[in-house]
Amino acid sequence: MACLMEIDIPVYVRDVLNILEKNRHDAYVAGGCVRDSLLGKEPGDWDVATDCVPEKMMEIFPNAVPTGIKYGTVTVLTGGGPVEVTAFRTDSGYSDGRRPGSVKFTKNLCKDLERRDFTINSIAYNLKSGLIDPLGGVCDLKNRIIRCSGDPSVRFAEDYLRILRAFRFSAKLGFLIEPETKKAAVQNKWRLLKISAERVQKEFNEILLRSGYKELDDFLSEFSEVLLPELYACKGITQRNNNHRYDVFDHIVRGTADYTGNDIKVKLAILLHDVGKSKCKTTDEMGLEHFYGHGEISEQLAKNILIRMKYPGDVVRDVCRLIKHHHILIEPNEGFAKKMLREFGREQAFRLMELKIADTGNLKESRKCWTEEIMECRKLMFSIIEKKQPCSLADLAVNGTDIIKHLNLVPSERVGEILEYLLDRVIDDPKLNEKKTLLEIAAEIPTV
Ligand code: ATP
Ligand code: MG
Repeated sequence: MACLMEIDIPVYVRDVLNILEKNRHDAYVAGGCVRDSLLGKEPGDWDVATDCVPEKMMEIFPNAVPTGIKYGTVTVLTGGGPVEVTAFRTDSGYSDGRRPGSVKFTKNLCKDLERRDFTINSIAYNLKSGLIDPLGGVCDLKNRIIRCSGDPSVRFAEDYLRILRAFRFSAKLGFLIEPETKKAAVQNKWRLLKISAERVQKEFNEILLRSGYKELDDFLSEFSEVLLPELYACKGITQRNNNHRYDVFDHIVRGTADYTGNDIKVKLAILLHDVGKSKCKTTDEMGLEHFYGHGEISEQLAKNILIRMKYPGDVVRDVCRLIKHHHILIEPNEGFAKKMLREFGREQAFRLMELKIADTGNLKESRKCWTEEIMECRKLMFSIIEKKQPCSLADLAVNGTDIIKHLNLVPSERVGEILEYLLDRVIDDPKLNEKKTLLEIAAEIPTV
């Protein structure tokens, strides 16, 4: 892998370093920006580390915002964007597994690098000194390894979120977690219950969205026991029938990794679509295993899980609806594609197709045709939308207010029914989709 030894620091960040140096302070870029630059990636943001204490920073940069003064951080607003400047510090007195009890500022850069989480995040750089890498982060970057800076058991016990950060970086960068680091992460897994659902959710989403199959399997095999016991219960639940090749857990994890899009609702729907199977398995007289009603049971379990993990209401609603309907049999024809768009709305209809593709993608060879049919239906849905063919209420040239005004209806009385009728007509004959025509048709609908 390309691992550059020089870093192209943007001018606005260099200006901040120069001003600190002119005031006789040491200043470096450090952490994620150095890691990403060495990997040849564009850093998301540039963080500066310095031996200047925060009060002095506020004098040097009078317009800076004291965003985290207790932890030594101020944000300098520059023409190129905000730059976080943090004093070299050592953290100690961790007692709650979340934040250091006390923060001490230091003149020693190496001490600051040692308090950081992983070796690849513990590298600093400036033009004068080049790379400062006391923990071997560059070597780990080259070997694609996530390794704790220092003793992993100690580091994870200080701050439990680092456990998830390890898996997040592994997923995002495709790096292996060094065995001792991984062992300590697993040993400390129950501590994740002590951190807030919001912080867990943020890291968990990234892990889900960025992991390949191997990383996701590694992570969920251990951590679902803590975060998603409903999924953990699916381990070893066999599915001896005409469709499945894998047990429930494996089927779910493979499907989840197969979806490589960015939509967290799709990811969660795949992850949770079959969790109810552990609760409803039956075996028939032929020895075939069935899971009757698992769509509804999974929907209910998913709802509990998503609320527990503090997902926003729209995520809970949309994911649950997808799970409830994940058994729909897809037909690869235009009429059916329109029906999907109409019943679910554009976004949800496409999500449902992604869920179904993932769900059928690791079945027995004889079921390959199912995935092909779903893909064909998805293609037809795209082409309907491309041709701007109306297929949902939102596509109609009239809305509820138009109908109420034109027919002098008491609001809500029959409006929904009339719009549905108009949509039926327009789906059959898209030429009717003009305001004047639709209002005429609406006026002629007999009231029963
Ligand atoms: P990203 O690309 O996700 O922003 P990052 O490495 O920049 O990755 P940040 O959360 O922005 O991550 O943190 C910046 C730096 O601060 C890290 O590179 C690391 O050196 C240090 N750091 C962040 N969180 C922790 C933590 N929980 N424990 C120790 N060091 C941390
Ligand atoms: Mg960052």
